[in-house]
Amino acid sequence: MTFQGDGSFDGSRVRKRTGGKGGIAVGGGLGAIALFFLSQALGVDLTGLLGQGATSGETETALTSCETADRANEDSECRYGWTLESLDVYWEDALEAQTGVAYTEPGAVSFTGATQSGCGSASSATGPFYCPADETVYVDVDFFAVLQDRFGSSGGPLAEEYVVAHEVGHHVQQITGAMSSADRTGTGPDSDSVRIELMADCLAGMWAGNASRTIDPETGEPFLEPITDAQLADALSAAEAVGDDRIQEASSGQVDPEAWTHGSSEQRQRWFMTGYEGGTFQQCNALEAAAL
Ligand SMILES: [Zn+2]
Repeated sequence: MTFQGDGSFDGSRVRKRTGGKGGIAVGGGLGAIALFFLSQALGVDLTGLLGQGATSGETETALTSCETADRANEDSECRYGWTLESLDVYWEDALEAQTGVAYTEPGAVSFTGATQSGCGSASSATGPFYCPADETVYVDVDFFAVLQDRFGSSGGPLAEEYVVAHEVGHHVQQITGAMSSADRTGTGPDSDSVRIELMADCLAGMWAGNASRTIDPETGEPFLEPITDAQLADALSAAEAVGDDRIQEASSGQVDPEAWTHGSSEQRQRWFMTGYEGGTFQQCNALEAAAL
């Protein structure tokens, strides 16, 4: 989706961290780190996945040079910040109206290489994630190139925005209690792990479907222009690319539904569309769905 207008972007909404060690090895074969990365993309259950060591040498600043909508449209890190601001405004209204729960803004970090989170130390190889312990979204925007190069997504702005909206979906699950009510230790097509992920996709779709009607309070105009068919196709391509069956097929040549943690490509696209096509929080609640 394309940002429009020039509201006063708050660069401090995202904390930019630099200087951490590590990084995504873009290109090359599917090594152990890549497989680990593939298995965790857009993940949330970080138990035992992250190292415990401190990441030293990091510095933290606000985002700079992201003040205009043009910058949001040309730079992935600026797009991340602007997307968050749109998500904050959308959920501020929608969550309370639909669930009675007051929305609180998640923390947001943009990092390169490696960083420290309330869930342990994370590297770019972890992929974007939400840490329930510190209620913060962590994104290394280099992931968006990997989403295309290694996962085969078509890329594009809505594909990137979908990733951010999915992680904020996990935050919505956290503050509504859905996250803590789920048993995220299991795997398989009917597991709570898969249900939590499909719900986050649906919540991302809710935002996307309403984003062009979500008004920037600074300008009185919508943050975003209406979604085009091509942009929607990009978001669905991203959802397809991170389906468990697709990733398993690419990494081992076999599909094992019992190991699923996020749902199939078809499921991820379908749940995104459920939210996109006017779905409500309740309709997105895959934890209570009879069928996935
Ligand atoms: Zn997730």
